Amino acid sequence: MPTFIQEAQANSSKFNSKIENHIQPKVLSKYDTKLHVKEEESILDDSFKSDFSESSVNDELGLDTPYVDKDENNNSKLQPKKYNGFQMVVLPTKDKIIVRNNFLYLDPKTFSIVWHNVLLFIILHSLGFIGVYKCYSEHKFYAFASSYLIGIWGGLGITAGAHRLWSHRSYSARLPLRIFLMIGHTIAGQNNLYVWCRDHRVHHKFTETDADPHNSKRGFFFAHMGWLLRKKHPDVFTKGAKVPLQDLLDDPVIRFNIRYYYLMYFMFAFFLPTWVGAYLYNEGWLFSFLVASAARYMTSLHSTWFVNSAAHMFGDQPYSTMEARENPFVSAAAFGEGYHNFHHTFSWDYSTSELGTSLNTTKKFIDLMALIGLAYNLKRASKDLIEKSMANQVLLNERKRLAAY
Ligand SMILES: [Zn+2]
Ligand SMILES: [Zn+2]
Repeated sequence: MPTFIQEAQANSSKFNSKIENHIQPKVLSKYDTKLHVKEEESILDDSFKSDFSESSVNDELGLDTPYVDKDENNNSKLQPKKYNGFQMVVLPTKDKIIVRNNFLYLDPKTFSIVWHNVLLFIILHSLGFIGVYKCYSEHKFYAFASSYLIGIWGGLGITAGAHRLWSHRSYSARLPLRIFLMIGHTIAGQNNLYVWCRDHRVHHKFTETDADPHNSKRGFFFAHMGWLLRKKHPDVFTKGAKVPLQDLLDDPVIRFNIRYYYLMYFMFAFFLPTWVGAYLYNEGWLFSFLVASAARYMTSLHSTWFVNSAAHMFGDQPYSTMEARENPFVSAAAFGEGYHNFHHTFSWDYSTSELGTSLNTTKKFIDLMALIGLAYNLKRASKDLIEKSMANQVLLNERKRLAAY
């Protein structure tokens, strides 16, 4: 008689083989040919990265090809700027102060605050903290935990929807799933789908430059939420205009989302969670609003923002020299989005990770959708490509180490 473990293994291999039917590995023939030549010549160095970028022919959106703007001397104009966490700043009082971790970063030349966002975030955080405090003081943590019944839907709307489906086209989804994800994205309340995907594609194309909306070179706080409190750097608009977005507007689900966003935002980010909470907790509408809407909204925003801050600053870089990092803590908080070095290296891969599937709730969800026929054309980076990228990284690190002597 098969043991429980054997049974589970058999079921999981059956499940995996069904999923495999939906996966279409990227055809990387042009890339492979180039890489083969490189290997024969034993030149696995920095040029690998540019070859990889030039030849990732199947990256339809061009997000894996760094944009290079050359001046008359053929030098790149879009060099990452160095902002370190110990920046000298001039406060309005003209005092010069060194600020650690950029928590008080103020640049007088580009100082411009989006006051309505500051106000909205102050209100949201005040209400959210009151919600958390009430759960704590009245021993009602079950209420906060159950608010995540709705929060999970919202999280998947961001990770499986706005991110992996619409921003990167790493898989395709049938209409019912697209509607489900669009509503989830509205529950998370992170602006309409078009704006979210536009900002994210610009982030990938111009990572860690002034054209990156949440450039982590400007410090943890800026990458986390400060970018929403300040006007965008002009490069975000001028360079960002080169990123293709027409495919987003071609989707009627996104057009509907843009058109009715504020009505849907009120309905799904506030009314629905409050109503479900009031029904579940039997504690009154005010309590439910503070917990299921405000506290849930506040914590889910921070979970997403950690991908832009922590997963760009803390963790390993096994796949490429891109600043994005492998951060399992962020993956746990953001349904698998913390495997960020892998993701920035192979942005078309629907799983956004090579191995870390235990914390990759979003991958499991997409696999399940593929199993019931709502998701298809799941794209993955080939094992061969991943291994070669990792070998290249080892070589680069070794050269850096030797150069330091
Ligand atoms: Zn991405
Ligand atoms: Zn990123």
